[in-house]
Amino acid sequence: AAVPSDSPTIFDKIINKEIPSKVVYEDDKVLAFRDIDPQAPTHILIIPKVKDGLTGLSKAEERHCEILGRLLYTAKLVAKQEGLEDGFRIVINDGPNGGQSVFHIHVHLLGGRQMNWPPG
Ligand code: 5GP
Repeated sequence: AAVPSDSPTIFDKIINKEIPSKVVYEDDKVLAFRDIDPQAPTHILIIPKVKDGLTGLSKAEERHCEILGRLLYTAKLVAKQEGLEDGFRIVINDGPNGGQSVFHIHVHLLGGRQMNWPPG
């Protein structure tokens, strides 16, 4: 498993448009783009443009409450934009056991097929 760190990640390059991505939503605070390795017909990542120490949810502090809410609200907006009226799933992987591989907090938005529970 990848080792958590606060170093810049590939997502900074995506934010700065140094590497291409399929952006589906952008404002001054957040960016949403299609996952390069989709696990569902719709698989989008929603990230804060400024990481501010938020490598993962486990590093959240009180000051992050606003951006955390904005990430979830953006997931709702994008779900609607993507036509996921039959439902969707939100995932935040954290740390090695959570399967996190990129240490810049991100919300996965998955939809377009039946999701299973438990996820395994
Ligand atoms: P994690 O495993 O940390 O929860 O999720 C990281 C996600 O980032 C993975 O689903 C992976 O496919 C995606 N990802 C990694 N590198 C890139 C990239 O360069 N571009 C895009 N669009 N997605 C990426």
